[in-house]
Amino acid sequence: MRGTNKKILGVIGDPISHTLSPAMHNAALKALKLDAEMEYKAFHVKPGDLKNFINTLRQKGYLGINVTVPHKVAVMEHLDEITKFAKLIGAVNTIKNEDGKLVGYNTDGPGFLEAIKHKLSFNPTGKKVVLLGAGGAARAVGMILAENQAAQIAIFDIDEQKTETLAQQITSNFKTKAVCLPSKNNELAGYIADCDLLVNATPIGMHPLEKASPLGTLELIPPRQAADTLYVYDLVYVPKETLLIQQARSAGAIAASGLSMLVYQGALAFTIFTGLPAPVGVMEQAAEKALT
Ligand code: NAP
Repeated sequence: MRGTNKKILGVIGDPISHTLSPAMHNAALKALKLDAEMEYKAFHVKPGDLKNFINTLRQKGYLGINVTVPHKVAVMEHLDEITKFAKLIGAVNTIKNEDGKLVGYNTDGPGFLEAIKHKLSFNPTGKKVVLLGAGGAARAVGMILAENQAAQIAIFDIDEQKTETLAQQITSNFKTKAVCLPSKNNELAGYIADCDLLVNATPIGMHPLEKASPLGTLELIPPRQAADTLYVYDLVYVPKETLLIQQARSAGAIAASGLSMLVYQGALAFTIFTGLPAPVGVMEQAAEKALT
């Protein structure tokens, strides 16, 4: 088959030059010997061009598209069907073109769940969580933890309105207890001392803020007994080892960075696009290589 007849997959965003998705997906296509018939591209789509791009996606019959910042919410009004979980999160990061019907999915939440299972061996059922941030990524994390029966999620965001909105969305859909932490640190320390999993879903620690930690300089991770391990997951993956991950490990916690969530959300999207199990190891290696 000639290159021009390849079925097109891709990712849209603004900006998009930093994306690791083409490296991950093209490596997966190659590993499954699908690279002669499919290709994954990055498309720079500005907010004003989103509608035109969706028309092009339909007209040219692109197979599927991943969606990143700032389009995850805005794209929803252009789709024909949206899964229940994506509606719950209020964001779509994967679109499958099913013979002209555009179906929206969210694989960020399930990608996070796979990441904590594989990298931390952590099962959230019955566990207490502290979630730093209440933005888009935190919504995906909070909803998947609640869907998987976390006992409690204590949310901390500098924007208390966002904290309250996310807590309310969790409690109105699930049995999980949601606690709103005030934007001052005094209650946060107590909740971290008592939790099983601490998640950073703020951009603090991400390049160019790599000298910062969402916990500040405060010693908020007290040492624990061996039987009472604290698990820490930082959604940030640039740099690979954030200050929070360093603080956590030096306090004896088991910690992992956000690259695995990126890989698993991509792997789940790959399966939605192709109907095939994704070669996760190949995608992870490609993402790591593209980061260096
Ligand atoms: P977002 O929608 O902007 O949400 C971030 C939230 O954190 C905002 O509400 C922000 O408040 C709040 N915040 C900022 N500084 C804080 C602090 N010191 N303490 C508490 N809250 C604070 O961003 P997002 O899309 O959710 O992304 C968050 C991070 O996750 C980014 O670093 C992103 O790269 C990463 N991420 C990783 C993956 C992955 O696959 N690993 C996937 C998605 C996102 P303000 O708006 O008031 O500043």
